[in-house]
Amino acid sequence: MKYISTRGNYDKVEASEAIRLGMVPTGGLFVPEEIPRLSEETIYSMENSSYQEIAYNVLTKFLTDYTDEELQEAIASAYNTTNFSTEKITPLYKLDDESYILELWHGPTAAFKDLALQIMPYLLAQAIEKKETDKDILILVATSGDTGKAALEGFRNVDGIKIIVFYPDEGVSEIQKRQMVTTTGDNTAVVAVNGNFDDCQNSVKGIFGDQDFKKIIANKGYQFSSANSINWGRLVPQIIYYFAAYAELLKKDEIKRGEKINITVPTGNFGNILASYYAYRMGLPINRFICASNDNKVLTEFFKTGVYDKNRDFKKTISPSMDILISSNLERFLFEITGHNDRKIDTWYRQLKEEGKFEIDEEVKDKIDELFVGEYATEAEIKKTIKRVYRQDKYLIDPHTAVGVNVYNKYVKNYNNKVATVIDATANPYKFSATVLSAIDDSSIINEMTKFDILKELSEESGTEIHSGLKGLTDREVKHEFKCQVDEIKDMIQQIL
Ligand SMILES: *Cc1c(COP(=O)(O)O)cnc(C)c1O
Repeated sequence: MKYISTRGNYDKVEASEAIRLGMVPTGGLFVPEEIPRLSEETIYSMENSSYQEIAYNVLTKFLTDYTDEELQEAIASAYNTTNFSTEKITPLYKLDDESYILELWHGPTAAFKDLALQIMPYLLAQAIEKKETDKDILILVATSGDTGKAALEGFRNVDGIKIIVFYPDEGVSEIQKRQMVTTTGDNTAVVAVNGNFDDCQNSVKGIFGDQDFKKIIANKGYQFSSANSINWGRLVPQIIYYFAAYAELLKKDEIKRGEKINITVPTGNFGNILASYYAYRMGLPINRFICASNDNKVLTEFFKTGVYDKNRDFKKTISPSMDILISSNLERFLFEITGHNDRKIDTWYRQLKEEGKFEIDEEVKDKIDELFVGEYATEAEIKKTIKRVYRQDKYLIDPHTAVGVNVYNKYVKNYNNKVATVIDATANPYKFSATVLSAIDDSSIINEMTKFDILKELSEESGTEIHSGLKGLTDREVKHEFKCQVDEIKDMIQQIL
């Protein structure tokens, strides 16, 4: 299978080439030329498959220029109980009669990004081997907090690859920052940027299209790639866990074969929810996609009105990994839903660049309405949801997952549609322990506590274990202290190399 550009401006490439390049060098994103289907028989048989087997079923359909041995090696190296705290990799927790929390935080960095970033380094290393270039790969990452650490862990000490992560200095949680700046490995660098996530992501995307800078980097012996969800290698592994979730529902007799389920995803860059849409197009029975946002509700308004308008204030929230106004992967979704109309995509994204907004036409809007609903949760609602779920179910959720749960509850109320629903838990609650503790325990005096005390207190209060990736975090040595302005990112890269 070949990969094409959402903007019709590049020749078809193999999967490994799409992964190696990260994004289309002339602008746009790589998408599969057609979406492979899995037969009903294959989907139902997953009930008796391991996560690794399901992973193979999905990846082999998309990554057609990788050998079976390569895929099996990557899967075995990524999805095992050394990296993940459970054999199931992404277990389901039954919250109530029809909603199920898909725990995507059992990996080393405690957020769902691990599901892709544990395997992607193998896929990229194999892609480099196929190409036989003399250049090392330089991975540039813009992060709203979780991708950065997950990518650093995945790519740390991988031969032939150097990774530089840019994060918004004031836009990530204390624990996220600490996780990143304490990363070891001689091929890693971390930079605090004086700006927000969109500033970081725009700069990095701009650098990929900057031919002069590409030459400068080439002279130093490097070529660019991306570990953000603009890279197909980030997205394709995320399709796997939607099949795994359906398989587990079948196995536990929660649903019948062929029964349609809803999917609720706390969304930022639109990568995770897009992966569920690809699963649907591959044959997974899905009724509705519920796109959950925080106060940066640009997607909620898009699904309600058909207008994507990023001209608004950027809000810093207690679900910082979703503080995003430009959801990059919406471009891939619009390309798919318009039946690969690259001219429309090119026009809309030109408008987005020039005017900060675009409006889709009625016909496309109607098609989207059949499948997608957008809603958002306010800061107060997020906290209330964490508290309610904890009090009612004795179950701890992080603020991002709480956005999902809150929006799902609104959906049930508004649509009166009670269908088995999978809600993505995108981070472990300990990753945002200050917010979670203050939400469940009004009496705790968070401001006077150290990060370590907060983790401990949350553990004592809830009777649950601190995520293993977060234990001992406060004792680790700070290794990265680079800081720069948004317009100094290129200089910074040269300085680091
Ligand atoms: C990245 C992230 C999100 C947003 O996911 P997208 O794929 O960007 O939509 C939500 N929650 C958490 C905890 C994240 O790390």
